[in-house]
Amino acid sequence: MQQPELNIVGSVNVDFVVRCERLPRAGESLTDATFERYPGGKGANQAVAAARLGAKVRFAGNVGEDDLAEEALAGLAPAGVDAILNVSDQTGVAFILVDRRGEKEIVVAPGANAEPVTTRFPGNVLCQLEIPVESVELAAERAKRFFLNAAPAKPIPVGLVRVAEIVVVNRYELEALPETPRLTALTLGAEGAVLLKEGEEIARAKPPRVNAVDSTAAGDAFTACLVVTRLEGYLWEQALERACAAGALAASRPGAQPSLPTAYEVDAIFS
Ligand code: ADP
Repeated sequence: MQQPELNIVGSVNVDFVVRCERLPRAGESLTDATFERYPGGKGANQAVAAARLGAKVRFAGNVGEDDLAEEALAGLAPAGVDAILNVSDQTGVAFILVDRRGEKEIVVAPGANAEPVTTRFPGNVLCQLEIPVESVELAAERAKRFFLNAAPAKPIPVGLVRVAEIVVVNRYELEALPETPRLTALTLGAEGAVLLKEGEEIARAKPPRVNAVDSTAAGDAFTACLVVTRLEGYLWEQALERACAAGALAASRPGAQPSLPTAYEVDAIFS
């Protein structure tokens, strides 16, 4: 089997994770929290995930000219991702409040991620929607094969859906799409995922049962694994099974990038 090559154009940021017993009400101060910080951003997360799953990955994105940039990028090189970066504005940050049950409130200050990303890769390209939609369209134009994780939910042009070989979404993101994709992978949290052809279910997969501690980046692990497995030459149905396992592994461990599984760990579930 040939090592698949995957290019990712997307966001990179630092996640500031604040864990508290319960989420605060508007105007309320809570003082029982603990604090962690991790490299994040859907683009960088999926780049790290794809590399750990065995792909040769190049990533393009924007960071700021500040001391958060290095921290935001810290996961890429150790995973073997080749990064092409523009420097402008501030490094993106996400503030994530998580309660005891895993319920979350997230506020993102996109900073440099809201600036255009102009790198255009030929070959296989995967994008998400945390950078300007125009940059995603530009990335899709040059791509030989284009894959879209339409997350987070936001309005996008019909052309972007049509050019994608598959669109990966959760329930909310599905509702925001301007039309039904040719092929959709719909994720359903602990219930797994469904493959839809022209909106009709053609396959379904269940994740292994795990003790879910933090679903941050479960969707990123799922998306990267789905695309990498497909590029390895497997059927979409098989890719869906593997992607569910990768998502479950990520949900069973804390943090975003630290929780992303390797190919070896996903293989172990099927052996
Ligand atoms: P998103 O966070 O993007 O909404 P999901 O929560 O649907 O994505 O998770 C993506 C995938 O990760 C799911 O399809 C599933 O395979 C896996 N997953 C997520 N949460 C769990 C869980 N609690 N138990 C097992 N697998 C999970």
